[in-house]
Amino acid sequence: MSLKVDTFPALKDNYGFILRDEATGRIAIIDAPEPRAISERLSALGLDRLDYILNTHWHPDHAGGNALLKKRYGAEIFGPREVTRIAPLDHVLAPGDVFRLGETALEVIDLGGHTLGHIGYYDRAGGQAFVADTIFPLGCGRLFEGTPQQMWGALQRITTLPDETILYSAHEYTLSNLKFAESLGSDAALEARAKVIREKRERGEATVPSTVAEEKATNPFLVYPLRETDFAAQAAKFGELRKAKDQF
Ligand code: ZN
Ligand code: FE
Repeated sequence: MSLKVDTFPALKDNYGFILRDEATGRIAIIDAPEPRAISERLSALGLDRLDYILNTHWHPDHAGGNALLKKRYGAEIFGPREVTRIAPLDHVLAPGDVFRLGETALEVIDLGGHTLGHIGYYDRAGGQAFVADTIFPLGCGRLFEGTPQQMWGALQRITTLPDETILYSAHEYTLSNLKFAESLGSDAALEARAKVIREKRERGEATVPSTVAEEKATNPFLVYPLRETDFAAQAAKFGELRKAKDQF
């Protein structure tokens, strides 16, 4: 049995994710960007229940819908402690914990950097990870709270997952990330990916999810730092790139 994932747009450029454990029918969502979009999607899928909300970090476009969805469905909310800054949270999760959605194990991984307590959820058996605002197709999250060293550590925990791992990012920022990537130089791998991305966006299709292999080959926030040999130099290079993107 396995974990089924449904990806759908919410708010301006967020993605919502509905997770269904096929063995038990248990339902969770990753973050709660927009209650109405989530309820409509649940109905469209023929689901009229929501068992759990799994938050990744405290930002309002991720935890802002917690209260309403809990009230509507009686969902239990799990996430990092920082969520309590703005929203209800029933159970605190920390890196190393395992959340069980029916028979599916979701390993909680430390993705601190975008916010200090940002976590991700890794379905090892299914080869997929929910990485929210840590890594995006050709991009990465802004450093609102963490240091370049912390974020580089988080990115390394993602890039050391198996190459075929599917990465579910929480935003459609890909065209803007692509422009920044191209400004740094291009190669055959980036050109090929650029073509696919532009075609998808012209058709109004999502560029999320991507894979670890695709990001390692073309995401400038990985490609350039990984040319350095040690962690300190990689983190420094990453920090330079992040600053350049902030001003791009
Ligand atoms: Zn965020
Ligand atoms: Fe966000």
